[in-house]
Amino acid sequence: MGIDKDTDTGSPRILIVGGVAGGASCATRARRLSETAKIVLMERGPYVSFANCGLPYYVGDVITEEEKLIVATPELFRNRFNIDVRLQNNVLSIDRDRHEIEVEDLTTSTSYREPYDALVLAPGATPIRPPLPGIDLPGIYSIRTIPDSQDIKDWIVRNNARKAVIVGGGFIGLEMADNLVRRGIAVTIIEMQNHVMPALDYEVATTIGSHLVANGVTLVLEDAVAGFERHGSGNLVVNTKSGKSFAADMVIMAIGVRPEVSLAKNAGLEIGGRGGIRVDDRMKTSDDHIWAVGDAVEVRDYVTGEWTVIPLAGPANRQGRIAAGTILGRDFKFRGVQATAVCGVFGLTIASTGVTENTIMRLNKAGRKIDYEKVYLYPGHHVSYYPGAKNMMMKLVFSTEDGRVLGAQAVGEEGVDKRIDVISMAIQNRATVFDLEEAELCYAPQYGAAKDPVNLAGMIAANALRGDSPPFHWEDVKKTNAFILDVRNQSEYAAGHIEGAVNIPLNDLRTRMQELPTDREILTYCTVGQRSYYAARALRLHKFNARNISGGIYTYEKLERPQA
Ligand code: FAD
Repeated sequence: MGIDKDTDTGSPRILIVGGVAGGASCATRARRLSETAKIVLMERGPYVSFANCGLPYYVGDVITEEEKLIVATPELFRNRFNIDVRLQNNVLSIDRDRHEIEVEDLTTSTSYREPYDALVLAPGATPIRPPLPGIDLPGIYSIRTIPDSQDIKDWIVRNNARKAVIVGGGFIGLEMADNLVRRGIAVTIIEMQNHVMPALDYEVATTIGSHLVANGVTLVLEDAVAGFERHGSGNLVVNTKSGKSFAADMVIMAIGVRPEVSLAKNAGLEIGGRGGIRVDDRMKTSDDHIWAVGDAVEVRDYVTGEWTVIPLAGPANRQGRIAAGTILGRDFKFRGVQATAVCGVFGLTIASTGVTENTIMRLNKAGRKIDYEKVYLYPGHHVSYYPGAKNMMMKLVFSTEDGRVLGAQAVGEEGVDKRIDVISMAIQNRATVFDLEEAELCYAPQYGAAKDPVNLAGMIAANALRGDSPPFHWEDVKKTNAFILDVRNQSEYAAGHIEGAVNIPLNDLRTRMQELPTDREILTYCTVGQRSYYAARALRLHKFNARNISGGIYTYEKLERPQA
């Protein structure tokens, strides 16, 4: 619990290290809860409360003015909130016995000590820069701060950069690719995994890989950078472990971030197995007077209960608020993170929430027993008869024990973020697929459908759990001797089908059922799984042992097709 419940008579000294998402949100929330607390925000950089999420768009000149990235200035903090912001003040160490920190004022190169009643660590994370040969050559950048983005912009102009290599195909890598291409720079992404967006499942990420390639990005997968060279005063050369070389005018390292824990570690605070500062659900560290928030901390995954490190702005902000509340005597608890994230690249939106199938499989391999099922669907973002409907791919993962929604991923041009946000709330409320089935969501032709994609996902999953339509999955098709029934029309079948599949178009099915075996399982498929669901239902009602292959041939293609 907090250090002083009766806040306005207590005047606690709250020191905060790090002045961006977690730190700034903690500082202002603390002020809203106490008029008498002394609040000091230490930030070693030249800016406080800036929008690091906007940096790729600043590089791409979508955001053209630097000041637009600054959410609040030190003056605003002082005048509006009576918060003492000290820029270019680097916190060097914590003296836990004396409740003091040592600070270096970088503008004067002098150091001083500052006492605290409550210390909040919000130092963020550091971009990973592996010690590869040539990593410190000029022209190799990470992007974390406004000065980083200014340096990148200057380099592009000074060197008339035409070719860039981005190392890492996660969301920052993809956003940078989009923004560099926007500036006329040819981009190559090198990604160690077999797909971009490693946090997603393979078949969901396929769409993103093809979309990048369609937009002129060169994708190099299952390869890693071995080192960098500079040829004379000319180009950089990026060498990969497989022996390839790529010439580049600049390199962006985007292979992830590491929690910034040096202060905490040196002070003897507990660091967790995932490398973040361990905190409890009130954001308190192993020291009763020290809290920690944001990218630097390790918290519980809301779905699995496992410790995790999720560097996202939303959790950082909420944790900052919770730390302020608990310091000032409020009974607030952090629920955990569920990794709800969104990324836009070349007009495609990619969003996810909760766990992926990959994560569940990894946890199950490590001894957990999470029983799950998945369904795929390709609904339109609004009704097809209203102009401009765009289909999205959705994958929903849910518990077979009780139908609880565990995770969802979606990719598409429109309406993706809305559906994932709805499912995110469902997860947070421990809702089930039966709740998604019944969710009442707003609808008019230009916005959605009377059966929204969220409803459809719930219906398909609920049909699976009720046994009305138990799904079959493509990865298991090769392992079965089932009868494969393609229910698309003849021209679709002729244009390409699964080897060995027999074609009976859905509209002919009721008159041709005698052609089907009664002693073998029948697996139905179509393009996306809808017509084949109708077919499987009809067959089941006629006492055939039939199942629908979830997600249709689209999903098969996504699983089978190489990503680049
Ligand atoms: P930070 O925002 O990193 O702030 C930490 C601050 O602490 C830094 O300014 C640092 O200088 C300061 N500091 C560290 N050590 C000390 C010290 N010893 N003394 C004084 N000061 C110190 N998240 C999303 O949810 N959506 C997005 O679209 C998104 N896009 C992003 C794009 C980019 C390019 C980047 C870099 C991040 C993006 N993020 C995004 C992640 C998000 O920005 C972070 O999760 C969030 O900023 C974390 O907040 P924080 O307060 O923990 O750390």
